[in-house]
Amino acid sequence: MKVCKFGGTSMASAQSILNVKSIIESDSERKYVVVSAPGKRFSSDIKITDMLYGAYEEKVETGSCRYKMAIIRERFVNLAKDLNLDIDMNKYIDEVEENILKSTSPDYAASRGEYLSAVIMSAVLGYDMVDAGDVIKFKHDGTFDSELTNDLVSKYKGTSKGIVFPGFYGRMPDKSIKTFTRGGSDFTGAIIARGVKAKVYENWTDVNGFLVTDPRLVDNPCHIEVLSYEELRELSYMGAGVLHPDSIFPVQIDKIPINIRNTFEPNHKGTFILHSTQGYNIPKVTGIAGRKGNTTISLKKAMMNSEIGFCRKVLSVLERNGLSVEHVPTGIDTMSIVLSDKGFKGLDENKLVDDIRGAVNPDHIEVTHSLALIAVVGHGMANSRGVAATLFTALYKAGVNVRMIDQGSSELNIIVGVEEKDYNASIKAIYNAFFN
Ligand code: ADP
Ligand code: ASP
Ligand code: MG
Repeated sequence: MKVCKFGGTSMASAQSILNVKSIIESDSERKYVVVSAPGKRFSSDIKITDMLYGAYEEKVETGSCRYKMAIIRERFVNLAKDLNLDIDMNKYIDEVEENILKSTSPDYAASRGEYLSAVIMSAVLGYDMVDAGDVIKFKHDGTFDSELTNDLVSKYKGTSKGIVFPGFYGRMPDKSIKTFTRGGSDFTGAIIARGVKAKVYENWTDVNGFLVTDPRLVDNPCHIEVLSYEELRELSYMGAGVLHPDSIFPVQIDKIPINIRNTFEPNHKGTFILHSTQGYNIPKVTGIAGRKGNTTISLKKAMMNSEIGFCRKVLSVLERNGLSVEHVPTGIDTMSIVLSDKGFKGLDENKLVDDIRGAVNPDHIEVTHSLALIAVVGHGMANSRGVAATLFTALYKAGVNVRMIDQGSSELNIIVGVEEKDYNASIKAIYNAFFN
């Protein structure tokens, strides 16, 4: 049996939903379907999920959410009408609107795009619908309860009729709805694939699989045929938005392959993400990904290297300030800490710097915001010479000043930090150096 997750663009219009239907009906093993909320139909369109977050904000600000809900209502009513479905969408929307007014967090509102999408998809397919809230569970502390969830999902193993699950959310022990982070329907698909012991997890989106780099930055980047779970984790965590970075955790337990496919070009075989890519023709570099919005704290202190506990003391200050650390490249007498800009919102930066000074008394400390990180990822790097030389020559020739360098201990990636204004040019230069 196969689990198929369809993303926002696949669920965006009646026509794309009919594509989904024909994909599912062309293979009798496609019995488990996970859906996202309707996404964008054209580039200036607004995703239903964003509108639902907006509806919650509207209610917080004004006590009503009628303006945003009117737009959402129109989209769902038209979808049902265009698909000739005998469903009273107005009744569903009335209930959502009432419950948003009673809710105290945006999660309920945000989850309803997936819920209503599943109502529509199960009617289109004649499949049963199982509410994600009944099978996907969180613990009291808000973390995902993978074992309870797996027990509940596994009860649906071996369905003959077919089941549609809404993606993106589950339930807390107090029955309230909680969502995953954005793009989380990919994670739901992986959870269902593990629970029903699927032979493959198909993730249907709007591109022909994983591309070497972001197609919005480089025209027509090369296609990646196979990728390992580890490479996927690195690339998606570093910004390759095509799949949620947590998606590998449920499937890697039983080594279930993920196959990224294109709803709008269903005959393309897409990208396979496997436990291991040994035996395949492995390139020097598999992929390039990046993201803006990072901060570095750079510290210098003579003889830092021999000062026992230096790193621990710095990291403890960050921990006390609730900051999560991304990378820690170090030199003999230098240490840099890379964090997300987001953590600095509302934080007293001068106090943080004073705390670090108090803890380790550095000779120099500097905080730089708005750094872009770029990761060059691939198992092939460990066995080939010249990868770093090619990378840094490309950046040098493009006139880019490299602000930070970090190589993971597994030699699976090299990460460079550049100024945000150099981000696009850097991605292009690195891509051209390895792939043209
Ligand atoms: P869905 O709604 O189906 O979940 P997403 O928008 O989340 O789709 O992810 C697909 C998009 O990811 C593509 O349209 C593409 O613009 C973007 N993307 C970013 N990096 C890559 C990459 N390396 N390969 C393919 N697509 C990428
Ligand atoms: N609809 C949610 C989002 O836009 C989840 C998803 O599409 O995966 O983030
Ligand atoms: Mg997505």
